[in-house]
Amino acid sequence: MGVPTLACHCAVCESTDPRDKRTRPSILLAHAGHNILIDTAPDFRFQAMRAHLDRLDAVIYTHGHADHILGLDDIRPYNLKQKGVVPLYAAPETFDILRRQFAYVFDNKPTESTIPGVSVHEIDGPFTLFGIEFTPIPAHHGPQSVLGFRFGKAAYLTDFSRVPESSKELLRDLDDFILDALRYVPHPMHSTVDQSLALVEELKPRRAWFTHICHDLGHTVTNERLPAHVRLAYDGLQFEVAL
Ligand SMILES: [Zn+2]
Ligand SMILES: [Zn+2]
Ligand SMILES: [Zn+2]
Repeated sequence: MGVPTLACHCAVCESTDPRDKRTRPSILLAHAGHNILIDTAPDFRFQAMRAHLDRLDAVIYTHGHADHILGLDDIRPYNLKQKGVVPLYAAPETFDILRRQFAYVFDNKPTESTIPGVSVHEIDGPFTLFGIEFTPIPAHHGPQSVLGFRFGKAAYLTDFSRVPESSKELLRDLDDFILDALRYVPHPMHSTVDQSLALVEELKPRRAWFTHICHDLGHTVTNERLPAHVRLAYDGLQFEVAL
């Protein structure tokens, strides 16, 4: 829902720490002049302005929930500036949702409006984009499925409740592991702080970054309770990744 959460006046929603201001989840990978976005959150336009994003070369989707897709319409300026479509990469079930939620993007009907220009690339295994190899990491998101992605020595795995053993094998020897940790209280669709700490302990990345954090977790107080190599991520966080 983002933090501050609308109509909430809890300590985290009213915090003045900029790291307690959380837009919806997304990451950007910049490599050799190309920008690859993972998920188009409802806050995509604001996030792109904040990151001074002048090019968008591809979008990869984790899954089709509203907080990960609703910014798709805002890719239009990149279509116009780059005079071309933006390739979308997603699992077939995620494209089913995108086609339903954004029928006007995919139905090829004549229109006087500017609509997002996209090309469809269904993910069915590892794929390479602009020299970066992406390994999909399938996981459970309650009764649904989600894809995490490994790129070099880093991986991004948001919105999961359980990681199958076969996927854990793809998450060994990481420098940076960015993973869902919604809150302390159990949730049927999301990993909690304690569950994510257990996964970090098992997979032993050099650093772990918790994301998809709700307003239960204040930045400073939560970090004080975490091991030194595990930190809450925050909006605008940047780091380099070895490919
Ligand atoms: Zn709140
Ligand atoms: Zn989700
Ligand atoms: Zn989500």
